[in-house]
Amino acid sequence: MIKKAKFLAKEAQLRIKYMISKDCIFCKIVTGEIKSNFVAETEKVVAFADINPIAEVHFLIVPKKHIESVLTISDSEASDLMAMHEVAKKLIEDNKLDAFRLAYNGGRFQHVPHLHMHLLAGKKIDWRKL
Ligand code: AMP
Ligand code: ZN
Repeated sequence: MIKKAKFLAKEAQLRIKYMISKDCIFCKIVTGEIKSNFVAETEKVVAFADINPIAEVHFLIVPKKHIESVLTISDSEASDLMAMHEVAKKLIEDNKLDAFRLAYNGGRFQHVPHLHMHLLAGKKIDWRKL
């Protein structure tokens, strides 16, 4: 019971700090409501494996703040974008990826309305899928 209360208190704090959206699947991953194994986490960003990978390496790099898409990014969110790219760089270096692609989907191509960058790499990649 105490554990549950502590979890709810922490979730409430994160909700305010990162403007967490209630029905957003990636916000739920950020707060821990949906379990995920993070391959990287910083103050502003989490990264985890895509549940339905289209390449040998397929990570999603996600700002903790609920930003909807590339079309809604504001000037004040520049540091969130920079933080996403810093995480991408670290994952590329740590995994020694010598060929990779970073991609944003938007409009009808975007299925989860919480900004995320795809990091794709590996021999079996079908580059035409993007
Ligand atoms: P997009 O089409 O750019 O919005 O891509 C959303 C991506 O999120 C897809 O590649 C999905 O496979 C992935 N995805 C959706 N739900 C989850 C989840 N719970 N954990 C990991 N990846 C997910
Ligand atoms: Zn969200």
